[in-house]
Amino acid sequence: MSNNRFTLALHGGAGAKRGHDYSVEIAHMRGLIEAGRERLAAGAPALDVVVETVAALEASGLYIAGKGASPNADGVYELDASLMDGATTRAGSVAALQGFASPIRTARAVMERTPHVMLAGEGAMAFARAQGLEMVEDPEAYYTRAGAFEDNAAPDVLPTGTVGCVALDQDGRLAAATSTAGVFGKLPGRVGDSPVIGAGAWADGFAAVSCTGQGEYFIRTAVGAQVAHRIRFGGQSLDEAAAGAIAGVAELGGHGGLVSVDREGNVAMPFASSGLKRAALLSDGTIIAEAF
Ligand code: ASP
Repeated sequence: MSNNRFTLALHGGAGAKRGHDYSVEIAHMRGLIEAGRERLAAGAPALDVVVETVAALEASGLYIAGKGASPNADGVYELDASLMDGATTRAGSVAALQGFASPIRTARAVMERTPHVMLAGEGAMAFARAQGLEMVEDPEAYYTRAGAFEDNAAPDVLPTGTVGCVALDQDGRLAAATSTAGVFGKLPGRVGDSPVIGAGAWADGFAAVSCTGQGEYFIRTAVGAQVAHRIRFGGQSLDEAAAGAIAGVAELGGHGGLVSVDREGNVAMPFASSGLKRAALLSDGTIIAEAF
């Protein structure tokens, strides 16, 4: 049962590299947790908080999502995002979206204004245009390629910088949202885990999860849904469930991490990667924000 204690957690990607100073990102993430805490304290729904938090992460240009996106192997910016409302298990998603400032707001529009869960490519763009969502007129001028320093690794160690947020609101509702430009140097048309409901994002009555890392491994192990199902069907704690799901990614040779909250207001943010930019409101009221 929910104790109705609200909370939230967010991430800025599992691509953190040792030796780099992430103080700007850490201060930014802390500020977003403080803003989210205020909104949840005022009674905002978890869904609104995760969407607006992810939209702010996208707009910052500090992460490889939204304004900070890196291009695919053809130099084209193709972005993925998804969200899920745990109270209703409604979900929305966009894949390989070009030319829109906020993929997460586009995903929300898919959920709320279509009978579908996922729109991809040209169809997603036509929909977003028809909805009047904010467009990116000049991609080369708009995208900052933030985190480009992270992107010099060998292709078999694809760097990452997805953003995401999970929240539990005062009414006991859970929600999750994830947004990304995907992995650096990806093939045109490649779609990762971030827009795949059950992989890169998941929320139900038990847990809300947002993932980051090598998406292929997160799809293969259905990490988001797996965390909630370990709790629901396996009787595990959130800590056990989240750690177990990430261990499954690592066992396959993948790396990455996640942020998660359960219906009791517990937070778990495990990772099997060099670092994970992340922040959360903890049960004792303190805020943590860190990269390693
Ligand atoms: N998971 C994302 C993907 O594979 C990348 C990331 O987390 O940065 O597209």
